[in-house]
Amino acid sequence: MLRSEQKPFEEILGYLEGEDKVFILGCDGCAQSSQTGGMPQVLATKQLLEGVGKEVAGYSVIDFLCEKALVASRLRPLEEKVMEADSLLVLTCGVGVQSVAAMVQKPVHPGCNTISLGGSRGEWRGSERCLECGDCLLHYTGGICPLTACSKGLRNGACGGASNGKCEVSREKDCGWEQIHERLREVGRLDQLKHFIPPKSWNKMRPRPEMLSTSLWALEQKD
Ligand code: SF4
Ligand code: SF4
Repeated sequence: MLRSEQKPFEEILGYLEGEDKVFILGCDGCAQSSQTGGMPQVLATKQLLEGVGKEVAGYSVIDFLCEKALVASRLRPLEEKVMEADSLLVLTCGVGVQSVAAMVQKPVHPGCNTISLGGSRGEWRGSERCLECGDCLLHYTGGICPLTACSKGLRNGACGGASNGKCEVSREKDCGWEQIHERLREVGRLDQLKHFIPPKSWNKMRPRPEMLSTSLWALEQKD
């Protein structure tokens, strides 16, 4: 289970600057139970976007956006509408957004922030990882999380230590920032690298007081 909350609409609109048509994707897994990316939220977001003059090329809610094979098979019949959109707005956790970015060669915008459950998180089979940082950056990084793909969690570009595409921390690992650069190049968004990402607010990675009263936390209490 990954818990998410919707980003402010103004932030989402900022992501869509210069774009006319967007395809909205929701998730019937964790995002549906977080009430951030099920069909009601997808339809509400569609209405908000149309209200400010954006065209919604299409929308869909897929059972688990973190499952790449499922994303690919469910989007295949909708391929024409997806491809006519300038980008995809994805209402789900950071893993789901990264999974969509890996399967669709289009700019992908996160519509939600994944918030901390204090280290208690679900399992998934893909290579995408999310640290539940509470302030999703995937819009700026081609849908690849810099906090998990880069060994040092760098937020504003590579450290310069990579060699032949491999990370200086471990030569077994691909350099996350080289992957981000390549993905941004593929979707024509290298300009995002000019955007400065301010220092992280670590406070956003702490579980919120209201989370401590959920059944998930209750299970961990003694007696
Ligand atoms: S930037 Fe990374 S850690 Fe933060 S919410 Fe997005 S995917 Fe998760
Ligand atoms: S080599 Fe790449 S992945 Fe490794 S720490 Fe430097 S920027 Fe991050």
